[in-house]
Amino acid sequence: MADTAAPVCVWLKRDLRVGDHPALAEAVARSRGGSVFAVFFYEPEVLDQPERDASHAAFERECLVELEAALGRLGIRLITRRGEAVAMLEQLRRETGFRLLVAHEETGTGVTYARDRRVRRWAREAGIEFLELPQTGVVRRLGSRNGWNRLWEERMEAKRADVPQCTGRGGLATVARLATAGILDGRALGLPDDTKDRQPGGERAAHDVLDDFLSRRGRHYSGGISSPLSAPSSCSRLSPYLAFGAISMRTIWQASEARRREVQASLVETSGPRDRAALQAWQRSLKGVQSRLHWHCHFMQKLEDEPAIEFHNMLRAADGLRETEVCPERLAAWQAGRTGYPLVDACLRSVVATGWLTFRMRALVVSFASYSLWLHWRPTGLFLARHFLDFEPGIHWSQLQMQSGTTGINTLRIYNPTKQAIEQDPGGVFIRRWVPELAGVPKAYVHMPWTMPADVQGRAGCVIGRDYPAPLVDHAAAVREAKKRLAIVRHAPEARSEARGVAVRHGSRRDRRGAMQQDPVRRTLGRDLPPPKPPPAADPQRRFPFATPDGDVESSP
Ligand SMILES: Cc1cc2nc3c(=O)[nH]c(=O)nc-3n(C[C@H](O)[C@H](O)[C@H](O)COP(=O)(O)OP(=O)(O)OC[C@H]3O[C@@H](n4cnc5c(N)ncnc54)[C@H](O)[C@@H]3O)c2cc1C
Repeated sequence: MADTAAPVCVWLKRDLRVGDHPALAEAVARSRGGSVFAVFFYEPEVLDQPERDASHAAFERECLVELEAALGRLGIRLITRRGEAVAMLEQLRRETGFRLLVAHEETGTGVTYARDRRVRRWAREAGIEFLELPQTGVVRRLGSRNGWNRLWEERMEAKRADVPQCTGRGGLATVARLATAGILDGRALGLPDDTKDRQPGGERAAHDVLDDFLSRRGRHYSGGISSPLSAPSSCSRLSPYLAFGAISMRTIWQASEARRREVQASLVETSGPRDRAALQAWQRSLKGVQSRLHWHCHFMQKLEDEPAIEFHNMLRAADGLRETEVCPERLAAWQAGRTGYPLVDACLRSVVATGWLTFRMRALVVSFASYSLWLHWRPTGLFLARHFLDFEPGIHWSQLQMQSGTTGINTLRIYNPTKQAIEQDPGGVFIRRWVPELAGVPKAYVHMPWTMPADVQGRAGCVIGRDYPAPLVDHAAAVREAKKRLAIVRHAPEARSEARGVAVRHGSRRDRRGAMQQDPVRRTLGRDLPPPKPPPAADPQRRFPFATPDGDVESSP
């Protein structure tokens, strides 16, 4: 029970908003005459993580500037401090006498996971009540994946946690006297300048992006998300706001539901074929984005349930596949966007410049690194984590492993970089924008510049091997070899039995039509298993027709 006179402390991490904020709402509700203050720490161990980029700090700063003002309007002071979390909390406890600490559960990196455990231990020993509340559909201490979808739906449909005005006076003078480091910029944090042409941070920006998507851009979501040309405007672009908690998952879900119902109602009243077609396009798009909101938590849940997948293969039978074959030259060429495969290079250069790539292109660059270049997913994943403004550990590492064939439960999806280039960027517009060496190359060769005759190379001002690299590897031969190596591991009896365990622990439980998903072990490992049991007739998990989270299903890799 909190001391009624003492202030309540809210520890902000990746929840930089005031709208639908369970931790702030709970703190105000529990303050009982005490004031509420919020703290944010600049933690050296977090700032030093190899996943961090100056763009993350800059985006975070924009969120914090807006948040400080919004909290002030609610009567809550934001205090920032620089230092290790336990030391900072202990200092604040001594200064204010707070007895109740409220925060959101975080599914983070190994560093923040260890930090949260230390904070929990400190709170226990100091006699502080430490309340950690969920803010997404990720369930802590989940016993089994069965029933998870229903829990997710309940959370998304629950009432929003809006934060009331804080009127408590207890400890107010003490809180007013607290020293704060202020909102620090990258330079003050010792970071290089943020050079990315990225999305702006902040809760207002998050809502603007959501409103714009649901009222205008979202119509083109279905069909527009795969090509790097249409994706930047067709996709929702909500991911960085979710990663920093500038908007809650529930807010997005409920807004998309309201829009879906509106479209549904308009369809009933509309008879004109053009209008109906437009509304049907909206329907498809909203269904697509709602599925992905569900996947967001589905993938995060994997890391929550098994933090080791940030570092180790989900299928331990895959250990040793790539670990010993480190090729720094290949890694460096891939990172620099100089592999000789134009779309891969364009994607890598564009993500370094903007902090964002659409799903299919993320999958392509990882597939190329893991299968064609046979690089381990950990260094490539770290590089991408640094450059994705929306880096979300649970989604990121699960996807890295899935696109590298080390989960044991997903079909191998090996993307052909030339086929993808021809399909997704037929005119080579995206390629030329990001790989200016190819600007003068005729359309007939822009996807395979190494096939250009010498005289065409001369006229195009792009000599292969001098102005633009020849292919680093022969993709087809490299993939044949990769498949052979993976098959040995994946088809070994120990791997098959281990994969069953992975499927039980992490596998999704339903398919695109809303039926229970085919046993992922069966799908991956063959047909020699007994037939699956039919799902129970009244399975509550079948209420919502989510697509399978195996990835982008628009067309073949
Ligand atoms: C190798 C790889 C790494 C990835 N790393 C990240 C990451 O660090 N952070 C991240 O948010 N997403 C990651 N994704 C998933 C996906 O590519 C991005 O969520 C999406 O491109 C973000 O753009 P958007 O917000 O416009 O997405 P939209 O397509 O508009 O989707 C809306 C939201 O749904 C969620 N979502 C969409 N696709 C997926 C997916 N395949 N899996 C899980 N959730 C999804 C995201 O929260 C997204 O913001 C990764 C995908 C791959 C293949």
